[in-house]
Amino acid sequence: MPRPILATVHSAALRHNLDRARRAALDSRVWAVVKANAYGHGIERVFEAFRAADGFALLDLAEAERVRALGWRGPVLLLEGVFDPRDLELCSRLDLWHTVHCDAQIDMLAAHKTQAPQRVFLKMNSGMNRLGFAPERFRSAWTRLNALPQVDEISLMTHFSDADGERGIAHQVEVFERATQDLPGERSIANSAATLRHAARTRNDWVRPGILLYGGVPDFPEHDAEHWQLQPAMTLATRLIGVQTLKADDTIGYGSSFRAEGPLRIGVAAVGYADGYPRHCSTGTPVLVNGVRTRMVGRVSMDMITVDLTPVPDAGIGAEVTLWGRSSKGALLPIDEVAQAGGTVGYELMCAVAPRVPIAAD
Ligand SMILES: *Cc1c(COP(=O)(O)O)cnc(C)c1O
Repeated sequence: MPRPILATVHSAALRHNLDRARRAALDSRVWAVVKANAYGHGIERVFEAFRAADGFALLDLAEAERVRALGWRGPVLLLEGVFDPRDLELCSRLDLWHTVHCDAQIDMLAAHKTQAPQRVFLKMNSGMNRLGFAPERFRSAWTRLNALPQVDEISLMTHFSDADGERGIAHQVEVFERATQDLPGERSIANSAATLRHAARTRNDWVRPGILLYGGVPDFPEHDAEHWQLQPAMTLATRLIGVQTLKADDTIGYGSSFRAEGPLRIGVAAVGYADGYPRHCSTGTPVLVNGVRTRMVGRVSMDMITVDLTPVPDAGIGAEVTLWGRSSKGALLPIDEVAQAGGTVGYELMCAVAPRVPIAAD
């Protein structure tokens, strides 16, 4: 028998969350952001649910090829654009739209031989200071692109640093709007947090939600999944493979980091950091056993964790352990809570599920 660990991708939740993005931005078209292999869920596994999106946005050319191989004929956008002049040939062959964020990419386009002009998304650095043209250089980049026979329609995009937090987006929206006010073209500015929190107040021809489609909450813990009506699209579950009964002063696992204050029944679950469960999670991280909330105790090992069975005295070997997502009885454990306990974000946990974990879809 294989190890009992399993990740399950919930198609109904993916559909629900995509619909949620649509309702948050009724006047916008929706890019389903499926970079990083659909945030760890698998492009092929999310494809049917996301067919209802207006396009797929990603950044790996091999992933763009996979979306086309699935039969998708609609828009596909490369969020970081091309990395090499040869990538433009693939853009022509597969009809990929691509971001242009620097002069080197315009140079590549100017040298590209093609019959069919390409659709591009010109990116402004409005304050994130990662990719994009500075606001004062944006217009000249647009003019240069617009003069190229290789270029068809030009859309305008930017990305927010604080859509999920207190600083918000107003300062970047102002920079973006001032520098683009008399330029034609569609606009794309909102990630998940901006779509949920700010979409109603910005012009967005295309929103770009990622994490929300998978049921992750972009502004956790200020808000939770219930607040935004999001459903978890991934469950990571395993089973107990051992039980130990501790006496007062007994310790658990490497480094004896946990010491029992009194008699304590603990379960040993078949999941560890080699499965992608974060090693930074320590005693107190929430976990469900047979759908009942309890806590992890001691350190995360490569292949095992230990959990407090006090709230589930009947649980023994074979009991269901839910690391995040939904138990078979319907109890929820938000990935955001587990991530917070490990000092990270739900994004990282989804993307880090290890190759040795089998994934099913329901
Ligand atoms: C990843 C990404 C998104 C989606 O971000 P979420 O926070 O997951 O919604 C949107 N736009 C760009 C440019 C991205 O790289």
